[in-house]
Parts: sequence; structure tokens; C-alpha cells
Amino acid sequence: MAMLELKSVNTFYGRSHILFDVSLSVEKGEVVSLIGRNGAGKSTTFRSIIGLTAPFSGEVTFKGSPIKGLRPHQICRRGVGFVPEDRRCFPDLTVRENLEVVARRQKETPSPWTIEKVYSIFPRLREREKNLGSQLSGGEQQMLTIGRTLMTNPELLLLDEPSEGLAPLVVKMLAEMIIEIRNEGVTVLLAEQNIHFCARVSDRGYVIDKGALRYGGKMSDLISNEEIKEKYLAV
Ligand code: ADP
Ligand code: MG
Repeated sequence: MAMLELKSVNTFYGRSHILFDVSLSVEKGEVVSLIGRNGAGKSTTFRSIIGLTAPFSGEVTFKGSPIKGLRPHQICRRGVGFVPEDRRCFPDLTVRENLEVVARRQKETPSPWTIEKVYSIFPRLREREKNLGSQLSGGEQQMLTIGRTLMTNPELLLLDEPSEGLAPLVVKMLAEMIIEIRNEGVTVLLAEQNIHFCARVSDRGYVIDKGALRYGGKMSDLISNEEIKEKYLAV
């Protein structure tokens, strides 16, 4: 059974039809990429999964149970963590306080995430733990928002464009951190415009364009597929 499965999802904003029969699956232990240009429908796919914009039709199942129509907090409580693209943290709280305020689901989880465990993946956050959220660089904010979501003990982590706007060196670090998170047993679905970042962290990917999936398969096959890249990913 797939950890996450979307079957023929159609999503609208008002009368605008945005997602067209999107079907995808993520297996436990995978890092899967959803790749597409700006406006392709990546964030809308995530909003459809997490319940921020419920799909008009189709199915969304998490660990075999339908989650379409549930509220975002209910979906989160079942074990889906969402890191939105705005990377907003609490600007007036310190790094440590940002992590403390969200600790949750501790009781049901056998080995819950702790601040120490988050720091072991993001040593930079330990160095900055007394700094305010407002004093962090873009890369540090991204690490903090991921760390904060890990504190909710998700089984599936949705990352919306984590590499966007970050310096190449930070992007490289972030890729290694995502692999470490996967090694800790967290399944990851990643939305990205940066296909090279995806190739570094994931084995499998989907390409989305104009709200429809155009490719699903191995990242290594996608990297060598000039036609798909040219048609749907070239800027
Ligand atoms: P991506 O995350 O891949 O950049 P989005 O999912 O944000 O793409 O957007 C997909 C499409 O939906 C775009 O055409 C965008 O203009 C449109 N869109 C996004 N948000 C809204 C909204 N709140 N109302 C209407 N249209 C929207
Ligand atoms: Mg987006």
C-alpha cells in the first residue's frame, strides 16, 4: 500500500479549473519530486493533499485511509507535515522557542523528534538558537521551518520549493539534510522547479505542467529525457 495516493484529482479556485486528473503515489521511505515551472500547479497539489483547498473530485488516501474533505489540522494530526513555500517562522521568538511551540504528537510516537535531533540534522540552528526568527538568513529560515514541522512527528513531509532563492552552497547543504531526514524514516514529497536539486535527493519524480502530470518515473530517466525537459521545464 502506498503511503500517499492521489487518484484523478481535480481542483478549482472558484471557477478556475487548476488541477486536471492528477494521479500520483509515494511509497514509504521514498523521496519523490514534483517538478514544474512557476504556476504549473505544484502548490495547488500540496493544498489539495493537506486540505487547504479540497479537491472537487478524485481521491486522496494516506496510509490507506481517505483524507479528502478533512480539515488541514486533522490531516496534519494523522502524520502529514507541510512546509509551505513562504517559510514563515515566528519572527519574535528565538530559534529554540520556534521549535518548542510546535512539539506535538509526542505520546503516540515511539521515537519522537526532539530539539536535539533537529539540531543534529541542522547544526546551524543550534548555533543560532538564541537568535530571533527575524534575524535568520533565507537558508536558516528554511531549515527552521522544516525543523519545526519535524517536531510535529510527520510520517510524510511535504516540502514546497525548499531550494528557491537560496545560494548554491546552501542548496547543496539542504539536499544532504533532506537525505538525512529520509534516513530518519520520514517519507518526503518535494515540489521544485530545480530539477538538479531533485535529481540529487530523489529516485523518482513527476513533471507537472498546466495542472496536469506529463511524466512519472525515475529521475535518472527524466534527466536524460531532453524532450520532456525542453517541453515542460525549460524557462
Ligand atoms: P506552482 O506552485 O507550481 O507555482 P500554483 O499551484 O501556485 O503553481 O498555481 C497553479 C495555477 O493556479 C496558476 O495558474 C496560478 O495562477 C493559479 N492560482 C494559484 N492560486 C490561486 C488562487 N488563490 N486563486 C486563483 N488562481 C490561483
Ligand atoms: Mg508554488
